[in-house]
Amino acid sequence: MALKGKTAVITGSNSGIGLGIAEELARAGADVVLNSFTDRDEDHALAERIGKEHRVKARYIKADMSKGDECRALIEKAGACDILVNNAGIQHVCPIDEFPTAKWDAIIAINLTSAFHTTAAALPVMRKAGWGRVINISSAHGLTASPFKGAYVAAKHGIVGFTKVTALETAEEPITANAICPGYVLTPLVEAQIPDTMKKYGMDRDEVIRKVMLERQPSKEFATTGQMGGVAVFLCSPAADQITGTTISVDGGWTAL
Ligand code: NAD
Repeated sequence: MALKGKTAVITGSNSGIGLGIAEELARAGADVVLNSFTDRDEDHALAERIGKEHRVKARYIKADMSKGDECRALIEKAGACDILVNNAGIQHVCPIDEFPTAKWDAIIAINLTSAFHTTAAALPVMRKAGWGRVINISSAHGLTASPFKGAYVAAKHGIVGFTKVTALETAEEPITANAICPGYVLTPLVEAQIPDTMKKYGMDRDEVIRKVMLERQPSKEFATTGQMGGVAVFLCSPAADQITGTTISVDGGWTAL
């Protein structure tokens, strides 16, 4: 159990990629703190299931990542934070001149500014523990752009820059900071984009997946949440001790195009 004794805090982890990462970190022996902005029985039940299945301590802590004080409180309530995964994110697709300001602000707050607050709160905890891993979930859209995703692309490029700064500020310590850049992963965030795209292009579901979504993903396959978790576990391994301030693409060749 390589990560036994470590505690991982994963933001936005009651679904999708965050949940996949929490599962894999727990499988590797880490205690995990799951998070989202809801406080439902099923959120806590999810943590209970992961804890039982992987024989680790697993808790769910509600905190809204659009609010700086709640981001910082999440780290405080976690009590320990050896591994911080900044994953919470939302999407809105709209041309720039019609983009609602409230949506812009929410995307920047949740997808970018939350990482500033959680990292600021977590670094002193990691320094005290003498070891730390910051793993930011960016995107292929942190390295390339698509039309109509202005706020998302800005936030995802921003988190790549912030990852580099975090790495430089911790470079002489046993702490690393890296960003994972997934291509398309079939999660609720992506699933939610399918009906509108079907309407927009007059396509059926399979056509939208193959011709629109995976058009830029040369493998023509979705990446999986388990693969994101596997990369996170690797970044926590001794083999990754000298990997810091960089991006790891898991995008079926998207950014090679
Ligand atoms: P998802 O919708 O399944 O998960 C998003 C998570 O963030 C959920 O747990 C949700 O509850 C949480 N969240 C949303 N708003 C929040 C808030 N205010 N406070 C706390 N938690 C909040 O989507 P996903 O695809 O798993 O996305 C996870 C991350 O991966 C996001 O940052 C996303 O941008 C990134 N990403 C996804 C893909 C993809 O194809 N799915 C590709 C590249 C990057």
